[in-house]
Amino acid sequence: MADDPDSVPLDISELKPCRLCGKGVMHAGSLVFYELTMRSCVIDVKNVQRMHGLELMMGGNVPIARIFSPSNTIAHRLAPARHLICSDCATRETMPVLFIEDAVDAPSEVPFQ
Ligand SMILES: [Zn+2]
Repeated sequence: MADDPDSVPLDISELKPCRLCGKGVMHAGSLVFYELTMRSCVIDVKNVQRMHGLELMMGGNVPIARIFSPSNTIAHRLAPARHLICSDCATRETMPVLFIEDAVDAPSEVPFQ
């Protein structure tokens, strides 16, 4: 149980303001706050096109195309972004896009070709 990364206590050096309101995570007096990790994924367009072409060559037989495909990668995971959310903000409806903006500097070019 001690080796479970989910059971590792949060150190004060990991503390940062609430991602949504910018206040301390205990400003509302609650003893509970939330830690969210969001990871962006970028589609590997070239490989998706290659896989689709192979599917067409195999007459639409997707399982056979997957076997013959040199790679079945459809996307690449980018580094995760970690956010803390106070209990006050966690009970409100929020748009996930608020978390996305600093999760990734969205590439304008496909980085995996
Ligand atoms: Zn907040």
